[in-house]
Amino acid sequence: MEFKFSSYENCLNFAVEENYKFVNLSNALESNEKSILLRHDIDFSLDHAIKFAEIEKSLDVQATYFVRTHCKYYNALSYSSKEILNKLESLGHIVGLHFEEDYYPEENLYESIHLEKQILDSFLQTPLQHIAPHEPTRTNRLEYDDNRLKEVGIKFQAYDKDLLEKYKYISDSSGKFKDGFLEEHLVKNKETYLYVLTHPVWWFENSPVERY
Ligand SMILES: [Zn+2]
Repeated sequence: MEFKFSSYENCLNFAVEENYKFVNLSNALESNEKSILLRHDIDFSLDHAIKFAEIEKSLDVQATYFVRTHCKYYNALSYSSKEILNKLESLGHIVGLHFEEDYYPEENLYESIHLEKQILDSFLQTPLQHIAPHEPTRTNRLEYDDNRLKEVGIKFQAYDKDLLEKYKYISDSSGKFKDGFLEEHLVKNKETYLYVLTHPVWWFENSPVERY
């Protein structure tokens, strides 16, 4: 399997045929059916994100897209980005905050999250309620305090402990599924609860490189 949009589509197709339920961070824990949680961290390219969103929409599947506000490669607040983020919402997807905490002084963590929520809320159709940290290994923060998050209007976090206990978590970080490709976990391992993180930047119409 390659990092092609068509491979991703085939996997989703398979999951739909196998009657997997597509969940999000708000209902994943309570699900007792075979479930898949689709998450995309938009690290570099909003254009690639749209491609995923359209594939998912065509299969009536929902995903959550986490957007950065301090990215060097795209400006989440530009006119064209706003259009893309609104389009993600209109395709039935969720937009969350891909938070870059090292932009701010450490002591302002939750205030900063609140500030970014307010900025994104100024143009999103649905108030932002989801957060996922960007590069958590580097910043050393995977989790946030649930109560502090609630105080600033955020209800769901990507690395919730219970969620990670229940779901098999796989990620294409650095352009590799270290733990086996998506297809393997679906078709071969038949995971009951699967949490898939993809970064749209690694995926193309035609995979330009082979990755080993
Ligand atoms: Zn990231």
